[in-house]
Amino acid sequence: MPDDCIFCQIVAGEIPSHTVYEDDHVFAFLDANPLAPGHTLVIPKEHHERLNDLPDDTADALYAALHDLVPAAEAAVDAPASNVGFNNGEASGQEVPHVHGHVIPRFADDGGSP
Ligand code: ADP
Repeated sequence: MPDDCIFCQIVAGEIPSHTVYEDDHVFAFLDANPLAPGHTLVIPKEHHERLNDLPDDTADALYAALHDLVPAAEAAVDAPASNVGFNNGEASGQEVPHVHGHVIPRFADDGGSP
């Protein structure tokens, strides 16, 4: 892992986070600058920069975790919907170069897409 990767440091417990889920391959925690209540980041524990860099088993584990965490994040804040997405590469707006999915709970009439 790169020494300066903040998400690797979160997985290692070197930077505190509000952890909401963890298994052998995946870690999920609340976003420090939430776009909505319950905004959650879902990441592979292993360092990979982009979605397309993930080995198949890690990609499968990440999707399986998202499959459960999306409804869990919605339920936690009583949201009827959510935006789920990945910025993939610097030009897309990916600021932290460690794969992460955003789960952003959404509410009726909350002002539009993030
Ligand atoms: P953007 O900042 O444009 O959304 P990213 O897709 O790379 O770019 O998202 C990085 C996310 O990581 C941001 O939503 C940011 O608030 C979040 N973040 C950065 N540092 C931390 C941290 N230490 N703990 C929790 N979330 C963090």
